Amino acid sequence: MVDLQISPQVRALLGPEGLARAAEVSLTASRCATCSRPLDGTVNMVVRTNGSFTHVSYVHAGCGPSEVIEMGDDFAPAAPADGYDMTMTAAVLDHGGADLPVLVAETVGKAYVVNDGPTGELTNVVASHLLGCGFHLVSRLRQAPPQVAEWVGVLLLGHGPAGEDGLLVLDPEGGQFYTGAVDLPDGWLTQAARYGWAVLYVGNVGGLDPRAHDAKATSRALRTAAQAGQLVGARIAVGTPGAAQA
Ligand SMILES: [Zn+2]
Repeated sequence: MVDLQISPQVRALLGPEGLARAAEVSLTASRCATCSRPLDGTVNMVVRTNGSFTHVSYVHAGCGPSEVIEMGDDFAPAAPADGYDMTMTAAVLDHGGADLPVLVAETVGKAYVVNDGPTGELTNVVASHLLGCGFHLVSRLRQAPPQVAEWVGVLLLGHGPAGEDGLLVLDPEGGQFYTGAVDLPDGWLTQAARYGWAVLYVGNVGGLDPRAHDAKATSRALRTAAQAGQLVGARIAVGTPGAAQA
């Protein structure tokens, strides 16, 4: 259970609208921005801002106060390759009658950018970065979003961190967007081999269990995030290292 504390200084900066949005953020299964351990007990909201960019994150009470930290002009949210911890949920999901291989990435440490000034919308830091990289805002799951060039998912079957299946998602600069385990449900590999790509969704999806293989729950969570304007997506090429070289 998380008891969120927001100092008067942070309240004044975010304003009523910003506070209402920040209060909607689920901190379930998320981690402290300072020590990377799971958030529980009293949690403080921290805001970094340079006037144009405002960045909201969460820390344990013992890891830091709820405060506004003034940043320099060159302050900008870090790119995903800079090391956001992520979970990856694989599913085969119906899109307008086609069963498509889907990957859902969720950031473990919740951090948000406030768009359009301090009273604007809170957007997931990683999702907002991806919109600048060719990913599209997803409003419904009828069709796969367009493919984004030069992004690639490399499946390392049986070669994950603990001998399970692993996945490496690389951006066009070779940055590691994701590296870690992936638990593939039945039929996922068949569909991925058939299409040669998977749909990668990223956003405020809300605590999926990557091992549950619950396609209905995944679909429901994605629809909710899409309707809230909190989901971005793209098709990315996927393959095994052998296929990638061929
Ligand atoms: Zn901490």
